[in-house]
Amino acid sequence: MAVMEAAVKLREQGIDVVDFGPGEPDLPTPENIKQAGIKAIQANFTKYTPIGGIKDLRKAIVEKHNRDFASRYDIAQCFANIGGKHAIFNIFSAIIDEGDDVIIPTPYWVSFGDIARYVGANVIFCNTKESEGFRLTADLLQKSLTPKTRLVVVNSPNNPSGAVLDDDEFVKITRLCKERDVLVLSDECYSHFLYDGRKPFSIASYQDLKSHIIIAGSLSKTYSMTGWRIGYVLGATDLIDAISKLQSHSTSNPVSIAQKAAIEALTGPQSSVGEMLEIYAKRRKFVLDRLRAIPGVKCAEPGGAFYAYPNISVAFGKSGIKNSLDFSAKLLDKAHVAVTPGEAFGTSDHVRMSYAASMEQLEKGLNRMAEFMAAL
Ligand code: PLP
Repeated sequence: MAVMEAAVKLREQGIDVVDFGPGEPDLPTPENIKQAGIKAIQANFTKYTPIGGIKDLRKAIVEKHNRDFASRYDIAQCFANIGGKHAIFNIFSAIIDEGDDVIIPTPYWVSFGDIARYVGANVIFCNTKESEGFRLTADLLQKSLTPKTRLVVVNSPNNPSGAVLDDDEFVKITRLCKERDVLVLSDECYSHFLYDGRKPFSIASYQDLKSHIIIAGSLSKTYSMTGWRIGYVLGATDLIDAISKLQSHSTSNPVSIAQKAAIEALTGPQSSVGEMLEIYAKRRKFVLDRLRAIPGVKCAEPGGAFYAYPNISVAFGKSGIKNSLDFSAKLLDKAHVAVTPGEAFGTSDHVRMSYAASMEQLEKGLNRMAEFMAAL
């Protein structure tokens, strides 16, 4: 958000900024989904709804999840929220007590740490290895678990690294958590954006592990619906009941119009998802090739999502750059390219670059970045 603001300020001065900052699809919401929203307004579907969303929405969520992953949730185990972030906020609020340990693998999506701290958790960061593509393993997790650990956050595909856990390793991690009676929060926000032919996966397809799994989902990225604000929780009914109480006294229901649009997204044609994935796949290859061609820059292969997380530490010690914050500030100032510094995600040798931008913008931005680095 801060990067976006800085980029906007430069743009207001008439400067042509290439923006690799935003974590949202540049593609429009598919037409059928927009039309469902318009129809909802015209039909006066503009009033309060049940707190966790209308039954048809919750039915659409569980049936889609079941179709994709054989997860077998029922409606009572589903709750709709105002975006995936709200789902995660509610999950943490409902289950974390002051002083509980929460394990968050690094690099991590910014909000996990702050939400955990807000609800009084003691956050333990578990550093994944760049040499292993930033993938969490059961071995790494084992070293971080404590007797007070209540929750482990798993976000695969990952924001910011794009890392995708091996399915078997994900199962191993969850088995370990179950043995220790620790809950796994699986953030599936990017679950449908996987490359090289990999199929979407949900840990909730393992029925014997489900007692220890909470799913946070979102329609924001899959259907390019970031502004509509629809996310959901799938989990045990006591968790859903607790979230229901919390949400009834805070935000109430997700926007009625967005709920109708979400039903269309989940039950209507799914071709737009594949089309978006194809576009991202081309961009991903282009960005990776161009980044790796910059002398000294390394970039772990992002298996999913729409981010690259290159290691730019080759620039440290040059032109007063000490870390990725300095690097990002200088890159914006001198080359008018906005990236997000790795410090936001818990590492200081990297920057996050979103390739949810047009090819033309990507090419321009990478040319500028290569020139900037050559001139340091
Ligand atoms: N989880 C991750 C990993 C994300 O990157 C995001 C958004 O960037 C979200 C959850 C929340 O998305 P939203 O609140 O738009 O549904």
